[in-house]
Amino acid sequence: TTKKSVTVIGLGPMGQASARAYLAAGYDVTVWNRTASKADGVVAEGAKLAGSVEEALRVGELVILSLTDYDAMYAILEPAADALAGTVVVNLSSDTPERSREGAAWAEKRGARYIAGGFGVSPAQVGTPEGFAYYSGPEELVEAHRPALEVLARVDYMGADPGLAPLWYQLQLGMFWSSFAAYLHTLAVANANGITAEELLPYAADTADSVSGFLKFYTPRLQAGSHEGDVDRLSMGVASVEHVTHTARDSGVDTALPEALLSVFRRGIEAGFADRSATSLLEVFKGAGP
Ligand code: NDP
Repeated sequence: TTKKSVTVIGLGPMGQASARAYLAAGYDVTVWNRTASKADGVVAEGAKLAGSVEEALRVGELVILSLTDYDAMYAILEPAADALAGTVVVNLSSDTPERSREGAAWAEKRGARYIAGGFGVSPAQVGTPEGFAYYSGPEELVEAHRPALEVLARVDYMGADPGLAPLWYQLQLGMFWSSFAAYLHTLAVANANGITAEELLPYAADTADSVSGFLKFYTPRLQAGSHEGDVDRLSMGVASVEHVTHTARDSGVDTALPEALLSVFRRGIEAGFADRSATSLLEVFKGAGP
């Protein structure tokens, strides 16, 4: 066949979206998943279900991995490692930078070439113009497969070190999970006070959007190492987080999240940052303090 071909291993929401993006782009798509029934949807749309991992590894120009973590990669590929030689593995599974470096060395030792990746978007954005993914590894390898990678999402090449794509991915997720959990906590307090998710949405969305403005305002100061307390003071911040915590408690809502925040703010006060900006929490995170 002269058709371009890819293999997708792992058919959670991201793997299924990836397989569909390749089908839509006219690729021959081979899939494999531990729980074979998860392939039913994409097979009905034209993908081929490989009979074994070895078979899945032997067909595609690229082998896309879309798994929960690197343990899942080893669980799947280790028993089929003889079929890895000559393949190009693109691992879009989440894990730490260190695990990615180990994974790259592991795959290369078995004769595979390796691209580390991480999607910056949700399943619905895969294969759309909003999509992007972080990649790292040998630049000529990423460039050689750029057209195939661009089927999934915009390609953001972060550098040669295979730890870089997961690092950027974890930087994004570190912010995402704490912000999203903060929203859910806020919604719990709102609900406890008779305010619905729909009623909260315009204000919550406004608050979320305003965070980006704060990042832009503070970045030049942080870049210059300044925590000047001219527009906000940490002592104001600690009082504010106390009020947020007490409002949650009075509403009968769990306070673990604001209390964790409060303990960090209080350590900033103990470290002597009361009259400086709340950005001085950066120094607490970096280990400053008593
Ligand atoms: P899921 O956790 O839903 O899918 C995981 C896949 O990994 C399944 O195919 C599952 O197989 C397989 N798997 C897990 N453990 C093992 C194991 N021990 N052995 C064999 N197979 C295993 O993940 P998603 O599809 O949601 O995401 C895939 C990756 O993409 C993750 O790393 C995630 O962090 C990342 N991501 C997810 C986003 C999202 O919005 N969902 C957004 C951006 C990135 P089985 O079906 O048999 O359980």
